[in-house]
Amino acid sequence: MLSGAAINLDANASYGVLPEVIEGIHEALRTLNPSSIHGGGQRARAMVELARDRLAGLLGLSKSERIIFTSGATEANTSAILAPFLSGQAKGSDSSPCWVTSAVEHHSVLEPCRRLGRLGYPGVVIPAPTGFVGPEQIEEAVTTATRLVTVMYGNNETGHRTPLAEVVAAARLKSDCSIHIDAVQHLGKSTERLFDEPIDSASFSAHKIGGLTGVGALVVRSDSQLEPLLVGGAQELRYRAGTENVAGIVAFGIAADVVRKDLHGRIERMWAARRFIEDAIRHRISDHRFNHPLGEGLPNTLSVTFGGLRADDLIVALDLAGVLVSAGAACASGKPESSHVLKEIGLSDADAQATVRISVRADHTPTELERAVEALTRAVELGRTR
Ligand code: PLP
Repeated sequence: MLSGAAINLDANASYGVLPEVIEGIHEALRTLNPSSIHGGGQRARAMVELARDRLAGLLGLSKSERIIFTSGATEANTSAILAPFLSGQAKGSDSSPCWVTSAVEHHSVLEPCRRLGRLGYPGVVIPAPTGFVGPEQIEEAVTTATRLVTVMYGNNETGHRTPLAEVVAAARLKSDCSIHIDAVQHLGKSTERLFDEPIDSASFSAHKIGGLTGVGALVVRSDSQLEPLLVGGAQELRYRAGTENVAGIVAFGIAADVVRKDLHGRIERMWAARRFIEDAIRHRISDHRFNHPLGEGLPNTLSVTFGGLRADDLIVALDLAGVLVSAGAACASGKPESSHVLKEIGLSDADAQATVRISVRADHTPTELERAVEALTRAVELGRTR
């Protein structure tokens, strides 16, 4: 539950700051520069390192992995994608595709890949009509010229999961390239230890688990030769220049610790809330289609197309009723643009624009969920009579 009366069923956009974070960051707000050698700086340094340990605890990391705090997953993805090319490891001298990604990635992956294309490094965007890429497609796309494979752990819009172990193994069969995972939707929703797979890096975002917006992390292997995207000072072991966002990092650490202590329970509760909403839609609302994978995928994510409705109207009606969801379309320069993900899995523009994403938190009460599905049922009925 969000502060105030609103019920946040838009947790994939932002989970909402945890009360433990609000309680715990006061001291961090008063700290100084963690690079300073005086006491004020050292207190800040200790807080940043505690947050690093806490995030490592949630991710089950060993000494062979290193956490680099960033301004969010967008920066982490951009760094990981541009890095092999910035360092000169990859040459754009011939026309062989040198990076591989999928058509359903987040824009923070697709745009840096497009930039590589503009810089003279061509690549392959694998179609993903099933909502994810599989090992066969990766095996087909990866060649000895490939320097980077970047795929997501789970899709933020549809909840489809990449079969990671198989995809990574398929890429490794063909190349010793960098393998990067956009793991934003992994955090707090899975007990898997990502770095048990032979991947090189993964990106995370604090506000998806109850931390603050504008903070994230790139996790790399300790022996990584990652070329920093931001250069200047020697912060973050020279991997990322710039004075650390101490309060944001501390908040990330607190949220990671809260999530780690009850990870199984939280995932179970997400599943239960998702099933409750699915059942309610099935039994109470006609003409709907689920786009998320039934019984699998991210534990908290539903994508539903409601025939004869505009998602934007539904979002506004639900907002007035105190329930927050999001659309399968984002408004770009005043024009609704259908989600590239929904179009990739075969939805028409009209259907994409009649689609809402419902993404639950781990702490909804039964009363809250009942209120939410009643509001949804009423909003759909009203919307259809207009
Ligand atoms: N990747 C995925 C899958 C996401 O869902 C998001 C945020 O919605 C991002 C990357 C970007 O994260 P940030 O907001 O930290 O830049």
